[in-house]
Amino acid sequence: MAYVALYRAYRPQKFCDVVGQQHIIKTLQNAIKLNKVAHAYLFCGPRGTGKTTLAKIMAKALNCVHGPAIEPCDECEICQGIQKGTVADVVEIDAASNNGADDIRALRDSVKYMPAVGKYKVYIIDEVHMLSNAAFNALLKTLEEPPKHVIFILATTEPYKLPSTILSRCQRFDFQSLSMEDILKRLKIVAEAEGIKMTDEAFSQIASSAEGGMRDALSLFDQTISFSIHEEISLDDVLAVSGNVSYKQLLSLVNSCLEGNGTDALRLVDTVLKEGKEVPRVINDLILFLRDVLLYKSKAILDDRMEFHLPEFIEFTKKIAKTIIYDWLNHLNETNNNMRFSNQKRAYLELAVLKMSDIKIHEESNLLERIEQLEHTIHMLSMSKPEPKQPQIMEMKIPSREQIEQIQASTELVQPGAEARPEALNPKPADNQDEVQIEEIEEILNTASKSRKLRLQSIWKQIGSEYSGVFIAQILVAGEIVAVNEKKLIVVLNDLGFCNRLMRYENYQKIMEIFDRFHANIEDYICLPKAIWNKVIADYRSKYSTETPTVHLEKIRIGVLKRKEPEQVVVLDEGEEKLKELVDRDKIEIMED
Ligand SMILES: [Zn+2]
Repeated sequence: MAYVALYRAYRPQKFCDVVGQQHIIKTLQNAIKLNKVAHAYLFCGPRGTGKTTLAKIMAKALNCVHGPAIEPCDECEICQGIQKGTVADVVEIDAASNNGADDIRALRDSVKYMPAVGKYKVYIIDEVHMLSNAAFNALLKTLEEPPKHVIFILATTEPYKLPSTILSRCQRFDFQSLSMEDILKRLKIVAEAEGIKMTDEAFSQIASSAEGGMRDALSLFDQTISFSIHEEISLDDVLAVSGNVSYKQLLSLVNSCLEGNGTDALRLVDTVLKEGKEVPRVINDLILFLRDVLLYKSKAILDDRMEFHLPEFIEFTKKIAKTIIYDWLNHLNETNNNMRFSNQKRAYLELAVLKMSDIKIHEESNLLERIEQLEHTIHMLSMSKPEPKQPQIMEMKIPSREQIEQIQASTELVQPGAEARPEALNPKPADNQDEVQIEEIEEILNTASKSRKLRLQSIWKQIGSEYSGVFIAQILVAGEIVAVNEKKLIVVLNDLGFCNRLMRYENYQKIMEIFDRFHANIEDYICLPKAIWNKVIADYRSKYSTETPTVHLEKIRIGVLKRKEPEQVVVLDEGEEKLKELVDRDKIEIMED
């Protein structure tokens, strides 16, 4: 005997066998009981939720020798014939392959004839949204004046693609995704009937992979049975077939991210991808996992899943703050959108994971600003210690030893949002000599070359894929090249924190090495936050014309720190220790949420 797929072999034959959709079944049964059956039904909902199954049971219930009845007998010749597809009165049409007007016209002609053996002619049109416009028009003519003995059941996953003229003539039912419980219940019945042993973990994984579709659940079950060589099907068997990432792997990954351990996180990504999992699957699984964590933290769990009883899972939910989960979800959703048309999906995933590992600093942009301010303060103090040469520094009070100690003390006690730099010692000169100056940007814009920019943009992609594991390179290529002249480049990034990071001397060296490898011919770069760039370019465009190709930009403050050669910074080491302490302490504070 030919092998019959489980989802076919175990397709419910009666209303009482159907799992879920109880409100729809009740309504249909009532209509039969009260003799109020409509001439056209529209069954909408996700795939595998029972639309065509219910349509066929409805056709049986109406045409059964003992019917119309609220439940078909499933034994008479007609019930059996409908199940086998040999009763001419019940016509199943797959609109995906019969979508032309001719098909529908043929249907319209056959509608005229009385049913051969049953009481009704039932036309089930699956994937009805695939019909052509001409076919819809032909169908509409039939729906407008249907003969009494004809019933249409239209099924679709995409009801919004149907013309409103069709929608308005149908009684509509919206099928819901099935719950984990419903799917588990049915899976266990099938497993028992087939004499198949499977661990609870494996059952749970199949039910969750199916995402609410019974057909998907049974197909996956089917595939796993033929794949597994063990007497009892295990979680690993299911994961190997489904391509899902296991909860344990997801847990290790998010734990590494939360600890700020990007290297470990990347290694885990590598392992998972080497196992043959697809990048979109991994991202999707991460999103679903984090959703579970959020639900668990909010005590809003709807399905009781066995993963929720894993001690590691519970521990993780306690460690992570909701704000971090939301940020992670944002990153992942963004990644999902951005990578859709890219061949560099892996790089996108790695960047997302690195951002997640970095998030505690990243999310606290206040903290980052504070760090930059503190670096600035310390740097200025280090410069003002010896005899000051520049007049504006002369005007500053030179801090005494006590005052320096006081500053150091105040950096230890600094509170979120508080001004890190004591007013009396504000060393910031009016023209921000330490920051990138507008004139530097002006010069690049006035001498920018389009062909250089295009060439560099093509290199950008290569950098992204070749340096997929290098954080600094990934931050760089996440930025947009906006202008390039003979030597210099302007890169626009979303936030100031990343700009300052790329501008640091040690990162400059790394980036120059990368540029050299690609023969990019770049000697320097400036990173700008998007907000500043928008201002600058608006100013530039308003002033530029063919008569005045050299533009003088309005003097605005850029806020990005200039690169400092290491020998200039004497006190920084000690200062950085302080900053590190501060960051570490903040990490702990955030964790304690
Ligand atoms: Zn029957």
